Amino acid sequence: MPKQLSQSALLAWYSHQKRDLPWRHTNNSWKILLSEILLQQTQVSRGIQYWLKLVDRFPTPQSMADSEVDEVLHLWQGAGYYSRARRLHALSCRVCLPMNEGGHDGILPNTSSELLNLPGIGPYTAAAVASIAHGEPVACVDGNIRRVMARQTQSLNPSLKEVEQWAKANLFTADAGNWNQALMELGATVCTPRRPNCNDCPVASTCVGQSEALKYPQPKKLSKKRLDLMCELRYDSQGLPLLVKRGDDGILAGLWGPRMDSEINTESLTFIGEVKHVLSHRDIFVQVWLGSCEQGREPSTVALSSLDQKILALGGQS
Ligand code: SF4
Repeated sequence: MPKQLSQSALLAWYSHQKRDLPWRHTNNSWKILLSEILLQQTQVSRGIQYWLKLVDRFPTPQSMADSEVDEVLHLWQGAGYYSRARRLHALSCRVCLPMNEGGHDGILPNTSSELLNLPGIGPYTAAAVASIAHGEPVACVDGNIRRVMARQTQSLNPSLKEVEQWAKANLFTADAGNWNQALMELGATVCTPRRPNCNDCPVASTCVGQSEALKYPQPKKLSKKRLDLMCELRYDSQGLPLLVKRGDDGILAGLWGPRMDSEINTESLTFIGEVKHVLSHRDIFVQVWLGSCEQGREPSTVALSSLDQKILALGGQS
């Protein structure tokens, strides 16, 4: 039976050592939700600027529901994983429906089980928002907590269920929000993937795996996919690129950019180079072909992905 973490030691450490992050100064569940969705796939240092812009422009679910999804995508520009922005917009629209139409009259529900029923909210986000904003005694499980658990208990490859059971058994129910954040903060700043700082760890006394911490958990083998695309980058006589809005499917859904496809007709176009874009689960290689058009569009007026910005930068050098 693994030893129980020292709750008082971890909470005392958290209260003194936690990073000063802007979403830690609010208990507004909508603003906390925005931070949780952003931080799923965006680093904290970059997430701060996006969070500040989002809460300023969309301080309530209603303000987002009243806007076009294009505006959310525009603010999200550069943060990556744009499906999050589209799902967030869909979520705001659902929340703002009247109760008798399956909505919540514009108010984000309080409990993790109700939050789970909203589009784009998984078990982690529901537990994080409900515990941080409302103190609901539910345990969170994320990659940081899994790593702490694996090292504390010498588990090479703990399953989600095992991590959940451990997190639940250790939960400080009287202050679940701070407890969950403290555990995640420990994983993010002390029990890090490559350099765990066991000398400064507030829960080292219960950690069975600390002498060989890097062994736990075993890294997951990621099989990366390669995607090859061709891009038709056309400029008008003013030097503005032809930009089209993409459809609702695929990794760049809903964003604007030059025409891209697996195959394009390169007649009357000139090859100017290849752009490589690395995502966590795939590498994208885009052959860029230059041509002309009647009328382009000012890029700053639409939502562009980082990949499209790289393509335009290559075009600007040609
Ligand atoms: S003692 Fe080391 S390995 Fe164990 S939880 Fe703390 S930082 Fe991680």
